[in-house]
Amino acid sequence: MEKAVNINSGTLNHEGVRAVGNLFRKEFDAMGFTTEWIQLPDSLNRAGHLVATRTGSKGKKIFLIGHLDTVFEKSMPFSPYTRLNDSTATGQGVNDMKGGDVMIIAALQALHTQGLLEDTNITVYFTGDEESAGKPTSISRKDFIDRAKKSEIALAYETAMSLDIVATARRGASGWELSTSGKTGHSSGIFNQNMGYGAIYEAARILDQFREALSQEKYLTFNPGVIVGGTEVDYDYGKAAGTSVGKTNIIAQKVLVTGDLRFISEKQKNAAREKMKEIVAQNLPMTSAKITFSDGIPAMEPTDANQKLLSVVDKISQDMGLGKVRAGDPGARGAGDISYIAQYVSCLDGLGASGRGAHAPGETINLREYPLLTQRTALLLYRLTK
Ligand SMILES: [Zn+2]
Repeated sequence: MEKAVNINSGTLNHEGVRAVGNLFRKEFDAMGFTTEWIQLPDSLNRAGHLVATRTGSKGKKIFLIGHLDTVFEKSMPFSPYTRLNDSTATGQGVNDMKGGDVMIIAALQALHTQGLLEDTNITVYFTGDEESAGKPTSISRKDFIDRAKKSEIALAYETAMSLDIVATARRGASGWELSTSGKTGHSSGIFNQNMGYGAIYEAARILDQFREALSQEKYLTFNPGVIVGGTEVDYDYGKAAGTSVGKTNIIAQKVLVTGDLRFISEKQKNAAREKMKEIVAQNLPMTSAKITFSDGIPAMEPTDANQKLLSVVDKISQDMGLGKVRAGDPGARGAGDISYIAQYVSCLDGLGASGRGAHAPGETINLREYPLLTQRTALLLYRLTK
């Protein structure tokens, strides 16, 4: 883990991502896995993925998920693996998620030592761009999805909330863009029949009605992140920056709003979009509005199959004397790689290293819980492949 953490592997540092991949690859080779490096087209500007497979007929077909990259790019100050005390260490990606990657390797090595990997069917997939997936994801996640479809159970080793919580669901993320327009002219004419209400009042009406209609729905959130309005507006997605020109005595002609939409199921996402479209269509006099939606990461829905998998982990935890394990709040987590395949296989996430402060300098790993979580994983793999 120390070696892996001390190699910078920010998503855009291709060389670093590959170096971490090579470090792990050797461990899989030594256990008799077939290893491959999945290249992505240059246009995606991503390092690629490491895949280790073994085929057999014993037990369930397992798909294990990790990622090689971190949010810390080479241009940021580097913080090496450092032991803070007897139960805590810090370093870039120690918890998200090199700790989880090493946990997968260590658990497999435990089984390998006992001859228990023989005739099992296990695919380990470490992506090189989880923190910022290469676009389009239809290309950067194609091989990942194709291979996952051939398995029965997917286990992801992103940060564990604690010893007693795993994720049976994760919310999906998507985007929307709202544009409104109105008739421009002297401000003294606003609200009258000829001039109407202008683009800014129309945008305000829509956003307020979104909030009124949908803000209390469980697991649904939508955040207008940017708004630009005036006589002329311009927004640059690449720079995440916009400009507007306008005057207090001129009725605003244009508004652009961009936001996200997070959801627990496709059904919830689609219902929210329908409701938003309905609201957008009820224009104030002399205005018009348009909303467009873009898909991002799908949701990992809380299925019965995932719940059943949780009960296997719960039983192991109790057998180990560590107490019960329950499902965490899906609202507390963002989307992850597992979300791309959750519709095809039974899934659990949040099985990796526990700690604090992922994505921030100074993130930590809990070294007291780490061996216990690693043992739990070894037992989980054993029981699923017996
Ligand atoms: Zn992660």
